[in-house]
Amino acid sequence: MPLDLKDMVVSRLGENYELHDRYLNRTLVKVQRTIGFDKVYARAEGAYLYDMDGKDYLDFLSGFGVFNIGRNHPVAQQAIRDILELNLPNMVQLDSALMSGLLAEAIVKRLARQGAPHLDAVFLCNSGTEAVEGALKFAKCATRRPRIISLENSYHGLTYGALSITGNPYFHEGFAPFVPGCDRVVLGDLDALERELKRGDVAAFIVELVQGKSVKFPKNDFFQQAQALCRKHGTLFICDEVQTGLGRTGKWFAFEHWKLEPDILTLSKALSAGYVPAGAVVARREIYQKTFNRLDRCIVHSTTFGRNNLACACGLAALTVLEDEKLPENAATQGAELERQLLEVQKRHDIIKEVRVKGLMAAIEFHEPRAMMPKMGWKLVHGLDPSLFPQLIVTPMLQRHRVLTQVAANRADIVKVVPPLIIGQKEIDRFTGALDAVISDLGKFPGPIWDMGHNFVKAMKSGAPKAAEPAGVS
Ligand code: PMP
Repeated sequence: MPLDLKDMVVSRLGENYELHDRYLNRTLVKVQRTIGFDKVYARAEGAYLYDMDGKDYLDFLSGFGVFNIGRNHPVAQQAIRDILELNLPNMVQLDSALMSGLLAEAIVKRLARQGAPHLDAVFLCNSGTEAVEGALKFAKCATRRPRIISLENSYHGLTYGALSITGNPYFHEGFAPFVPGCDRVVLGDLDALERELKRGDVAAFIVELVQGKSVKFPKNDFFQQAQALCRKHGTLFICDEVQTGLGRTGKWFAFEHWKLEPDILTLSKALSAGYVPAGAVVARREIYQKTFNRLDRCIVHSTTFGRNNLACACGLAALTVLEDEKLPENAATQGAELERQLLEVQKRHDIIKEVRVKGLMAAIEFHEPRAMMPKMGWKLVHGLDPSLFPQLIVTPMLQRHRVLTQVAANRADIVKVVPPLIIGQKEIDRFTGALDAVISDLGKFPGPIWDMGHNFVKAMKSGAPKAAEPAGVS
């Protein structure tokens, strides 16, 4: 039978969870069903998802920070159509193709405009974790040193190198042994960092400039000092901007906030407009060349799909839209409004401990409330499961208000949002209004939200994993 994709989608939409239960990650399906995330989204545009009845859902998750330019952007769609119509040879491999050259040029030119002309050599790959692997390999090869230092509570991906430097034990369980020579210091602890660097065997210090799991970032000059220490001790400074790059934090690159000069930069997520997996490592040419230092080593680090035309076309589209629609600037403006509104919500609810916002990357952290009844609810829920509480926010945000958000990290009372950078006042009002309403409902104990916690735990005990975990990945 000839493949009719459109017909297939129309006739089978709705079978999603059955298919995943049968053929993919059925544990994830069970969690999605338990927490009420088992929606069938039929269409997407900009900052909105639509279900089969046409109801809109405000997407404040954007595919874990992928859709900076919004979903199904016409410029990206046109780029895909064009590249298909051109019938270009794709991945000849033993040539130097035009599209990858053009994307690398666009990335380097953009970095130069943002104050980093020294980042002038690009390695294209397919994902964030793969960009991190590349960065670690380039650093080790350039310095011939064996160790990598990263930060506690960091997230760099889940392949072995990236996982080994990821400072979150949740992701480690069951996967040991890890890559040797990976150690961590606490964000802000310069003494600990210097102790490690002084040993003279550290190839690189790698940081997320705004930590993805918690949206934590230093308010002081920790990064500048850390970079200076790296220079002093011959260690390369890697900024993992897989999530923070390309406008997310209100600048094209987060390193601009602190006027840093990373030796190596990683990018992915928003790089290809949400259509085709893509990632990039960008380094100083002299670092890059230490890996490709002899003719017989010209492909010693490589990946089959890394320079594919479709990803590169999407990459050019994403960079163009970010610039034309001034999305980094919009992220800064809307981020300021988001922060203002969140601080207002915080004033009304003492259960909010802290609001952290950098551009359009935001976390709302909760703590035990003072009022007697919600305090009892808080204690009960934390007694049942230390990861559960933020799910009690995120689920009604979706169920009652049709706003998609995420639990940020395991065992942390944090809700995180990373909306598309195209949002405006309307979207921010809807999000903060929903958040305010959900938190107000927490004041009712006993009440429906706290009951939901109980139900989640019952469902968990019947064999599903901890309810809060999967919504917190990435
Ligand atoms: N580094 C950072 C800073 C990230 O946020 C992520 C993804 N959340 C990764 C690396 C891994 O990216 P990927 O999921 O594409 O492998």
